[in-house]
Amino acid sequence: MNWINPFLRLDLIQPQLGKQTSFAEAMAGKRAGQVKKQISSSSQPVNSERQNSFASIARQVSVWNVILVVVISMFATRPAIVIGVEEKEEASLIIIDVSEVPGLKQWAENAKDLLVEWHPKITTLLIGEDREFTPPKKVTLFFKNEKKGIAHARGTMITIMSGWVEKHPDDIGLTVHELVHVIQGYPDGAPGWVTEGIADYIRWAIYEKKHQEWFPRPDSARENGYLKSYQTSAGFFLWLESGRFPSIIQKLNKSVRSGNYNDGFFKKETGDSLTELWRMYFESNR
Ligand SMILES: [Zn+2]
Repeated sequence: MNWINPFLRLDLIQPQLGKQTSFAEAMAGKRAGQVKKQISSSSQPVNSERQNSFASIARQVSVWNVILVVVISMFATRPAIVIGVEEKEEASLIIIDVSEVPGLKQWAENAKDLLVEWHPKITTLLIGEDREFTPPKKVTLFFKNEKKGIAHARGTMITIMSGWVEKHPDDIGLTVHELVHVIQGYPDGAPGWVTEGIADYIRWAIYEKKHQEWFPRPDSARENGYLKSYQTSAGFFLWLESGRFPSIIQKLNKSVRSGNYNDGFFKKETGDSLTELWRMYFESNR
């Protein structure tokens, strides 16, 4: 496939000069500012007005850096999942390709904006301060003219089927799930229930802000139900992370990425086996 075509768009996020309405915007503006600064130092000097704007942003962002956290949870029943964003976070580059389905251009642009915001958040949730692994910054969103299927991620390429988007235009959160896969970067042989459970945990518990009760816990999942994967294992991960084992997702992510994961991970990290933990979750009142 020829990726250099007239529909291919390479967009860096633009700084929100002169207005800061949210932490996310502040961080986006700062990251874009750093990129612009790098570009301008090698080409032409920035004008003083823009420099003043950057200084203004830097001052405002430094205030945010003192706080440094976004507390997603606004409800007492919801665990406080805290996302910090690294000060020196580089801007991510989300490339969209709608050459097969130009009608989805606006949806694709919205998805790109969402992923530019969520790339650093997912990175922090999965990797935290451990920066021995740098996730890919450049990610391609390819929209395939296809009625069947939903979406998948391979390497740094996220493929989204046009038929699904046309029928479910509100399902933009699926792109967050797929971006998690890109940032996971797991080797072949990674356990599917962990891979999909973490992707759905970040999508539904963090991005969609679903509470613990929302996650399915079907009777048929009484024994080793975590193997049901997706939302079922996502609920299990939320219960672990928001209960006795905060940061277990980062440890689990690191273990799976190393290629050395086995179910003994849970016994080692929590003192209880995976089967025991699942039983406790299944029987909990949530
Ligand atoms: Zn998935």
